[in-house]
Amino acid sequence: MPIERKSVKSAIIGGSAGFRFLAKHREELEPLGTITTPFGNSAPVYRYRSLGTDFFYISRHGDKGYNITASFVNYRANIWALKELGVERIIAWSGPAAIDPTLKIGEIIVPGDLIDETRRREYTYFENLGLGFIRQSPTFCPELSSALADAVRKRFGTCRTDDVYVCTEGPRLETPAEIRKFSACGGTLVGMTLIPEVFLAKELEICYAPVCYITNYAEGVRKRSFRPGVLFEGLLDDSESAQVDAAVASIAELAVSVIAGIETKERECRCPLFMERYRRRGDIGEDWHTWICPNEGN
Ligand SMILES: [Zn+2]
Repeated sequence: MPIERKSVKSAIIGGSAGFRFLAKHREELEPLGTITTPFGNSAPVYRYRSLGTDFFYISRHGDKGYNITASFVNYRANIWALKELGVERIIAWSGPAAIDPTLKIGEIIVPGDLIDETRRREYTYFENLGLGFIRQSPTFCPELSSALADAVRKRFGTCRTDDVYVCTEGPRLETPAEIRKFSACGGTLVGMTLIPEVFLAKELEICYAPVCYITNYAEGVRKRSFRPGVLFEGLLDDSESAQVDAAVASIAELAVSVIAGIETKERECRCPLFMERYRRRGDIGEDWHTWICPNEGN
């Protein structure tokens, strides 16, 4: 499959309802298919081109509907595929629940940090290698996060940037005691994506920043009765669904606008230097493929 590499440097990973973006922008999207990687096939990749904006797009949970829960996404293949295509910046969207009751349903925010409560994911490319001590402060690319927060402020007047996203394994939702524990640890949001996506992106020196919309209140935050047969079984009120739908639509357009504003700018953040120590020591070469598969090309 001929892919014009290195000219497109940005990507969006769409979260819940990411398939709606594909349906809405069918005209601007060119399907590139899945990309074969040493970790299996990636999710289908699309190239979006419109009005001079050019980026790759992956719908994390499926391109026709919500078909893969966060626990079963092949994160290593997806991030590898984007690196292979020459991507330097990834904006990822996610729809977590609010632990902090002052957050509003449908509110769009740019989280500042993460707590890892996942259990069974593939967290690194560097298996059986002496690589991978990467500092995690700031957790997300500051340059990209700041561009996202500016865009949210421009559109909504305000943007929270200090929220802490607790990433759970799923697919089950959390117990009330778990939510109380996360709150006591400083968690203000709970979701199931972002980890290990952000850590894998860092290993390949890709900038990564999330933008989130609040989907519902986490268990125990608001009194909600059990309603069988509906999404989250009553955690989300019917009156709140419209706010969530509006947020999904605006979050995608917001991410596209941020890419349009930065895609021609060179990176000035520290993300291209995460592996510099190993490079300087001569442990790794310029070709990133050989960092992960040292015998490749020998
Ligand atoms: Zn960066």
